[in-house]
Amino acid sequence: MPFVYDDIYEFCKNRRFLIDWLQTKGLLGNFNGLCDHCSEGSLHLVEDKSYSKDGVVWRCTNRKCNKKVSVREGSWFSGSHLLLEQIVKLTYYWVYDLPNDFISRELRIGSDHTVVDWKNFSREVCLSILKLDNEKIGGPGRTVEIDESKFGKRKYHRGKRVDGVWVFGGIERETKKCFFEVVEDRSANTLIPIIKKYILPGTTILSDCWKAYSSIESEGYQHLTVNHSIEFKNKETGACTNTIESTWNAVKKSLPKTGTVKSLYDSYLIEYCIRKKYLQNTDDKFTTFLDLVKRVFPCKKRTPLTEVQLNQPTSLSQETLNGSLDLFD
Ligand SMILES: [Zn+2]
Repeated sequence: MPFVYDDIYEFCKNRRFLIDWLQTKGLLGNFNGLCDHCSEGSLHLVEDKSYSKDGVVWRCTNRKCNKKVSVREGSWFSGSHLLLEQIVKLTYYWVYDLPNDFISRELRIGSDHTVVDWKNFSREVCLSILKLDNEKIGGPGRTVEIDESKFGKRKYHRGKRVDGVWVFGGIERETKKCFFEVVEDRSANTLIPIIKKYILPGTTILSDCWKAYSSIESEGYQHLTVNHSIEFKNKETGACTNTIESTWNAVKKSLPKTGTVKSLYDSYLIEYCIRKKYLQNTDDKFTTFLDLVKRVFPCKKRTPLTEVQLNQPTSLSQETLNGSLDLFD
């Protein structure tokens, strides 16, 4: 069953359920076992309101050691000051493209900046996935359309001239897998290495007649061109580049309307590629994205607790933290 908002709501109602769920999913780590600090005691999950807002911490049973490890240690939640449930909801909203002002309002987060920060962090996951995949597109029998496009060209922006950036990209017709890169210029010296970096030899490459592309055939590709100044489709070869043309429109629409700085373009383009590759064709975008998160922040899983265990206070709490048993109520 695909995850819907009601499921998130259920999990987030009770922080202990949420922590258990995240631990069984491998999104929070399992540090249960011998303490590597003292090598005598073992780490157990205990309630501790004073340690962090999460309300629980992994703590060594050896009183002399008393080593504590955050439930967020090594996970993708570790750097954030937000509550776990806020992060889970924020991720759900991000995956489904809800606007920042809606998210900050719903999560009762004071400013949009926090939302923007977390979205940037989500984009870093996309970047890591792209690096982990390190997958080229195309190959024999496949067709890749390539093109360059100017992004963010506005003559005057708050009194300053904004020239925008050139983006070079390609998309495989058969699968819609794509790549994009912000480039300094559109010379062959810049574009040919990028083509070789992203496109497999033997691919049929379609492009316009830009002179930088003239050496493509000598690099081990088949090359078909269409001259946009005189035709939309090459009459002899049938070549046209409307897949990449329509992709530019979609990519430009997906970028934020304001506040985009040059250095962020790359990460927005990468987000677009990851959404296209992984999230577009699934009816459970949230779970699919969490699976990507797990690849970037792998954590040791634990087996789910039973209903009874979940309804009892976390171990050790009774003897050590008297009075804090109602933490999850
Ligand atoms: Zn210890």
